[in-house]
Amino acid sequence: MEISLGIHQLALPIPNSPLKHINCYLIEGNEGWLMVDTGWSTPTALDSLQAGLKDLGLALEDIAGIVLTHAHPDHFGLAGHIKQAVPQAELVMHRWESDLIESRYVKFAELRDKMAPMLLRHGVPHSELRMLASASMPALKYVIVVYPDRVLYGGETVSTGVHNLEIIWTPGHSPGHICLYEPVHQILITGDHVLGHISPNVSYHVQSGDNPLGDYMYSLRKLLHLPVSKVLPAHGEVFSDLRARIDQILEHHERRKAEIGQTIASRPLNAYEVACRIIWNVSEIDWAKFSPLLKRAAITETIAHLECMRWEGRVERVVERDLVSYVLK
Ligand SMILES: [Zn+2]
Ligand SMILES: [Zn+2]
Repeated sequence: MEISLGIHQLALPIPNSPLKHINCYLIEGNEGWLMVDTGWSTPTALDSLQAGLKDLGLALEDIAGIVLTHAHPDHFGLAGHIKQAVPQAELVMHRWESDLIESRYVKFAELRDKMAPMLLRHGVPHSELRMLASASMPALKYVIVVYPDRVLYGGETVSTGVHNLEIIWTPGHSPGHICLYEPVHQILITGDHVLGHISPNVSYHVQSGDNPLGDYMYSLRKLLHLPVSKVLPAHGEVFSDLRARIDQILEHHERRKAEIGQTIASRPLNAYEVACRIIWNVSEIDWAKFSPLLKRAAITETIAHLECMRWEGRVERVVERDLVSYVLK
């Protein structure tokens, strides 16, 4: 689907995910096309990519460059395959995402071993620990590992010869997340940073930094005054009112913090206890029926809110016998 002159959207399927699709973007250039995000590495996603390219009269060989908004499996998975098919295509991503590839996808056992004590400190019972610490392991098979040819820091312009795209560093959902801004047509490719239909997961974990939700909210505010006519997200529909959507997401997190604050108003609770008590807006409403990945995301998202509130001076952290609890000030 052509979104703007020379900018096409390709929706590739994500198996077993409520997100269903990832939107990749193909941007016309003078010497080949630039692809933004790549999809999971599955035969169906690869078939969809090839069919989508064919509809445009293109093949994999016409991809001259790949930019990843971040290195989560749904964005990064097929990059290795494309690089194998077209080695001269330049792969670029933010420096911090590049730094996380080895631990996420190669030495993942080490990461899992760090994850377990972190979850334990935040109240996860021993009986659930192993399952939750390794909850993201199944996604590993959807990634072909590849390293970037060049890293970005934010502020650079990636040019295709037809379009110039400014790189905006937007940490929060992932430490090295970037958005791409095309100023002539006022188009913003937002990856998972701003989605129209859901608020992206922002989790505290061993690689997130100490205040990922604070980073995320800062990264949202950074985009508030950018002239944007079309927002091109990685999941869901294209939309136009960026400012209204940012306000909604910021409000959502403030409401969430207020709700979390109520649960710890009278006595300290750990993040696991808080996550069991607050309402999650998902189809599997019963906490006991949450999948391990969903449960872990709920816990690490709760920690992100609690830590953000701590840095805002609203919450106190109490550490007793290596167990972390929080109480409203
Ligand atoms: Zn993501
Ligand atoms: Zn995604």
